[in-house]
Amino acid sequence: MSDDNFIEPARPAPRRTRQARVRWGDHVVTIGGDAPVRVQSMTNTDTVDVIETAVQVKELARAGSELVRITVNTPEAAQAVPHIREQLDRMGVDVPLVGDFHYNGHRLLTEFPACAQTLSKYRINPGNVGKGDKRDRQFAQMVEVAAQHDKVVRIGVNWGSLDQELLAQLMDENAKLAEPHEPQQIMYRAIVMSALESAKRAEEIGLRADQIILSCKMSGVQDLVSVYRALAKRCDYALHLGLTEAGMGTKGTVASTAALALLLQEGIGDTIRVSLTPQPGEARTQEVVVALEILQSLGLRSFNPSVTACPGCGRTTSTTFQELAKQIDDYLRAQMPVWKAKYPGVETMKVAVMGCIVNGPGESKHADIGISLPGTGEAPAAPVFIDGEKALTLRGEGIAREFQALVENYIEKRFGAAA
Ligand code: SF4
Repeated sequence: MSDDNFIEPARPAPRRTRQARVRWGDHVVTIGGDAPVRVQSMTNTDTVDVIETAVQVKELARAGSELVRITVNTPEAAQAVPHIREQLDRMGVDVPLVGDFHYNGHRLLTEFPACAQTLSKYRINPGNVGKGDKRDRQFAQMVEVAAQHDKVVRIGVNWGSLDQELLAQLMDENAKLAEPHEPQQIMYRAIVMSALESAKRAEEIGLRADQIILSCKMSGVQDLVSVYRALAKRCDYALHLGLTEAGMGTKGTVASTAALALLLQEGIGDTIRVSLTPQPGEARTQEVVVALEILQSLGLRSFNPSVTACPGCGRTTSTTFQELAKQIDDYLRAQMPVWKAKYPGVETMKVAVMGCIVNGPGESKHADIGISLPGTGEAPAAPVFIDGEKALTLRGEGIAREFQALVENYIEKRFGAAA
């Protein structure tokens, strides 16, 4: 047989960036290089409200966010930052805090040194630093504070707040060309230039290259892919990835997933954020849940045991399997904060909950533990497969409860201390 008969397994390309180290106390989060792709999130509380902000940071961290950004937009917010940190430390939450600065960051970081010291990382948007000669001076001021406190800085360009002077200059130059480029290409160029030139300037002022993380957030999937490919080709700074203003619900989730999956598969992106607008009543932590799922689906990281469930079809009129799949999924997620410490490796476990005989036994055999529920017209019996072998058959009303108990036993035996 020729080699064409053997199919190379698809896997994300390796990342080749420098590694930044974001610290709070003894807790260090590495970003870039061979570090796992990190998950970030941002609060939507008023930073001045210390308790409410600390509680949301804790929820985001507990959901899996490895860094949490808070807005620092006023002197009162800057004053609140050390108190938020103290509150988090009291609650045993060591997640590093990132401060988001726009317009007045130069003043806040210099006038509130406790804020500058407490934050583990600063986010600076070069488009919102100031205009004309003020821009360079104010940018330098913030970078000097970062260098003085040995902090990591994300230079975060956002197309909604792109440096308009730079864009206008590039548009003028383009207009004079015999064959001008598309305006979209000029915008891409302005975004990438703004990030790279700001990074170069930050190094000249005193930051090391491994203290710099870059991002160029766009709200269109193809725009984001175009810009990040260019950025990855032109530098080896660690890259923060995210589709900005992704939107709500399904739209935001799908658009973010499409954009991030394309780039992560190419080895582009060292840390991600999914910028979802919460739907009324939806938890802020949903953006973290989606980010974790993206990384786990791509095989980049494992956070929670995965549940494979068939979609159901005309062969099964019962909703039992959907309910069981949801019950098992909810149960595994709820237990994970405790299990992470108690059962190392449990996050790699695969559970299958299938609706009928067509794919049920096959899919269940591929899982660590799986159940194939009876479809319409099938005998009322649910074979359970453990490590690829049929182990027993469940019958009757208590199938869900009994299967959950089997999953618990399996976890204890395979991942418990005695295993
Ligand atoms: S496993 Fe059975 S019930 Fe589930 S989708 Fe396939 S055919 Fe339908």
